[in-house]
Amino acid sequence: MRFGIAGAGFSGAVIARELAEAGHEAVVFETREHVAGNCHTERDPETGVMIHRYGPHIFHTDNERVWEYVNRFGVMMPYNHRVRTTVGGRTYLLPVNLLTINQLFGTALRPDEARAFIADQADSSIEEPQNFEEQALKFMGRRLYDAFFHGYTRKQWGLSPTEIPASVLKRLPLRFSYEDSYFNHPHQAIPRDGYTAIVEGILDHPGIEVRLSTPYTPEDREEYDHSIWSGQLDAWFDHEHGPLRYRTLDFEEIRATGDYLGCSVMNFGDVDVPYTRIAEHKHFAPWEEHEGTVCFREYSRLAEPGDIPYYPIRMANDKTLLSQYVEAARAEQDVTFVGRLGTYRYLDMDVTIGEALTAADGILEAIEESQPIPSLFVEA
Ligand code: UDP
Repeated sequence: MRFGIAGAGFSGAVIARELAEAGHEAVVFETREHVAGNCHTERDPETGVMIHRYGPHIFHTDNERVWEYVNRFGVMMPYNHRVRTTVGGRTYLLPVNLLTINQLFGTALRPDEARAFIADQADSSIEEPQNFEEQALKFMGRRLYDAFFHGYTRKQWGLSPTEIPASVLKRLPLRFSYEDSYFNHPHQAIPRDGYTAIVEGILDHPGIEVRLSTPYTPEDREEYDHSIWSGQLDAWFDHEHGPLRYRTLDFEEIRATGDYLGCSVMNFGDVDVPYTRIAEHKHFAPWEEHEGTVCFREYSRLAEPGDIPYYPIRMANDKTLLSQYVEAARAEQDVTFVGRLGTYRYLDMDVTIGEALTAADGILEAIEESQPIPSLFVEA
């Protein structure tokens, strides 16, 4: 079969590869002049630092299939992500751990003591947290929440934390040890040659043709047996029910010599500091050495038409709109919706790759059994 695939990020690339390896033909269309979507990396010509053009991407997973998959296409260098945060003129360690707690409260508690202390701070009257704030108050209490989560979350989402789903906080652990690794997963790494080289490797197959700077439109579907859409779900339907909302990011560059931050990511929790965080990209490649340094301040705002979509907002009204598009997607034939934009979800890279592999399995199975190919393989 001949597939038209919209988008050369991880979703489109992995599906193209799996289909091509099974003997099908894939034409991958990419609006931008590079592959890898928002994971794109490129060397800064002045300093030689590998820049994560659309913000920091740290690969972490507990999915063995995904881990083996990325290792097929590039050298993954061990990397342990650590984040610090500055609030009220002081610097603390994230995710919230025993040192963070002891520093904030001026205590020297051991794990069991800290657990009891935080349980005492927590709001036990909240049974089923309905939003981000309730989730935080239930698990850590007002003081930790106010210090590390309230301001940052307001800036990141542009909304009161009472309007944000509880699931967003569940991304972050609360630790009663001095372990300050940001992620819990057994595999954590950054590709030596960048994410773009990995995606180029995935796309490097005789059954795959890549067309850069070439958008795919729903009209193009006529030329293919089946389409894979990793663009914005609502864009496929010409936004007919209204636009699904996203947060976008603006980056402000800082150049210096030596070490500007002393770490890869510093968050800023104060609401009156207009940016959410600064990332110093050479620290994402600690095996390299560079004299110069490049950092980016990150400012988050509501995406306007034409802005790059980053984080799907998924508040109650967005979800109502989403359900209309999901219904329309389910009714479609000869197109499958995949990925962060195609399913309007906040996805880490490993989940994106894992879902792309599952979708490709499902597509190949449907072909084998002469069944129609499903338009969605996940609950959007
Ligand atoms: N968060 C926060 N304070 C921090 C870091 C994160 O309140 O210092 C909240 C914020 O709402 C954010 C969410 O936790 O959107 C998830 O954080 P994560 O670091 O996973 O965000 P990402 O790196 O994906 O932007």
